Amino acid sequence: MRLFNANSIQSGYSCIYSLLRASFLILLVSLSTLLHATTNNKPNIILILADDLGYGDVGIFGSKMISTPRIDQLASSGVKFPQAYVSHPVCSPSRAGLMTGLNQVRHGWEFNPAGRDAEAGMDNGVQTIAERLRKQGYYNAIVGKWHLGKQKSHHPLSRGFDEFYGVLDGGSVFVDPNKPGVEGTALSEERIHFGMNNRYRNFDKVEIDDYLTDAFTDEAVRIIKRKKDQPFFLYLSHTTPHTPLQATKKYLDAYRHIEDEGTRVYSAMVGSLDVSVGKIVDTLKALKIFDNTMIVFTSDNGCAEYILGACSNAPFRGFKRYHLEGGVRVPFVMHWPNGIKNSSHEYNSPVSTLDLSATFLAAAGGDGSTEDSVNLLPYINGIKVGAPHKYLHWKAGPTVAVRDERWKLLRMAPIASDVSIKEDIGGRLIPPEGGWPMDDNSPVDYFLYDLEKDSAETSNVITHYPTVANRLQKEMNRWLLEVSDIQPILSPIRSIKMQNHRKDYQLFF
Ligand code: CA
Repeated sequence: MRLFNANSIQSGYSCIYSLLRASFLILLVSLSTLLHATTNNKPNIILILADDLGYGDVGIFGSKMISTPRIDQLASSGVKFPQAYVSHPVCSPSRAGLMTGLNQVRHGWEFNPAGRDAEAGMDNGVQTIAERLRKQGYYNAIVGKWHLGKQKSHHPLSRGFDEFYGVLDGGSVFVDPNKPGVEGTALSEERIHFGMNNRYRNFDKVEIDDYLTDAFTDEAVRIIKRKKDQPFFLYLSHTTPHTPLQATKKYLDAYRHIEDEGTRVYSAMVGSLDVSVGKIVDTLKALKIFDNTMIVFTSDNGCAEYILGACSNAPFRGFKRYHLEGGVRVPFVMHWPNGIKNSSHEYNSPVSTLDLSATFLAAAGGDGSTEDSVNLLPYINGIKVGAPHKYLHWKAGPTVAVRDERWKLLRMAPIASDVSIKEDIGGRLIPPEGGWPMDDNSPVDYFLYDLEKDSAETSNVITHYPTVANRLQKEMNRWLLEVSDIQPILSPIRSIKMQNHRKDYQLFF
């Protein structure tokens, strides 16, 4: 007895063939539908950057004094990053890293532009996030502080943005201090005049009468409403709570109980930032585009020592301008219901604002990864395990740092005791003509901190863990060699003296 005849085998084959063909066609149709849906549903991306906001000044990051319910809400329904870093502890280089996804040392932007370099601009040969997103069909708007060059060729509109409303400088005044209800630092007439006249819409000067944070928020809301039907990237780069400390009555009222004026005004400024985040969220919800908008909230560096205790980088030590954790670790929140599957959690590996390039571009369907920029989405979605970075690196002149999952090696130059360096009235060291000389052979000291056990960097454990220190020093030297040929655009002009473990060091920024 024959189990099968040839005809039945043939008809079986043709049946399987038809089935396969049908499945293949269905797959093709689903893929093209998916692809079509993806191109039409690219997420909006909103980056809300605070200026000099301390890690310990956000409710969900530990503040007991300042109330930030809207930022906290974004973190608790999104992802909170307790170990997020900027690539430099001052404004301009931190932003240069963030905006390009490349450690700014790689493109010569190691310091704040100042003195003879005040008119310099970030290297046009390096792509910005906006330039990359434009290729993915994004409309790019920046509202607020740019600080990466004031000349036309370095202007945001020359660096991938379609519109700009804000300040090209490192800051501005927030409001005319003579207005009723305004409190804050006493400002000279000259400072008020300059600060009220450095605001632009695209290339044209504009007058802004409102409190600057409110004006930026309102403009951001207008842009969201106008661009709701196409994928947009909105870089809302607030100038708050950077100096000058200034706040209006509506924000001060919540903090009348704080006696110290600086602390009261600073707290109110953070309050205005929280209101801004709330207005952005409410606008997105009203337009029903909240779920498909990725929002990142963070700061460009830690809060500053020179505002005399008004702010907090707790639980860390150090401030803006320091490579201690207080200078470089920042509050960082990401929220995107459509793209982050396991939201409402903390992501605990170290990440960097340098990762925003790869992360934003991946969300947009492109590729923004660089030597320094890693797409964080597969990590926070649990698709990739392990840490996104084996090492993170920092450099500002002779100050160099490297960290892995647990350890941080910090290198600093002791201040030469035989040289009498004078300070200006702001406490900055007065540089010699033409900036500070950078001598690679100057003496340096090394510190090893166990960030897992001692995130406040209170104990230098370098003598206890020589193998760890050697490994990190080797990695530091490898990286320094990698960036050693880069032609710097900026020279170090600004400098201060700081103390670490009872010895004086010189910081450059
Ligand atoms: Ca800053």
